[in-house]
Amino acid sequence: MSDYDPNNIFAKILRGEIPCNKVYEDDFVLAFNDIHPQAPVHILVIPKGSYVSISDFGAKASAEEIKAFFDAVSKIAEEKGLSGDGFRTITNAGLNGGQEVPHFHLHILGGCRLGPMLTKMAA
Ligand code: AMP
Repeated sequence: MSDYDPNNIFAKILRGEIPCNKVYEDDFVLAFNDIHPQAPVHILVIPKGSYVSISDFGAKASAEEIKAFFDAVSKIAEEKGLSGDGFRTITNAGLNGGQEVPHFHLHILGGCRLGPMLTKMAA
């Protein structure tokens, strides 16, 4: 697994060097709207700690950080009115996962019927 790059765009958001459209924050977690939304609701949830991917987060984060992260996902889904009709969460990891930003993040997508999980089989 690659080392954490402190110059990735989400690290800059966490340091307040670039703005975000914040939807949730607590001691361990920040969530903000995706800049290129793929659904009526498209929120990114990130830990404040420096983790490259979900594997890195699972291996190195404390139980308190992990609980705070998933509590935040539940709270955001509830607050955004997604719990009733449902929503999708995605986390891309590494090259095959198509991860663009190397700071662990969970996409929350909702607000419409999202359709099949994958539209095509990768070559
Ligand atoms: P991934 O491909 O899973 O790494 O997703 C990265 C996501 O970050 C994409 O959906 C981008 O649209 C989003 N993104 C990139 N830069 C920003 C930014 N400055 N603010 C909000 N979302 C961003």
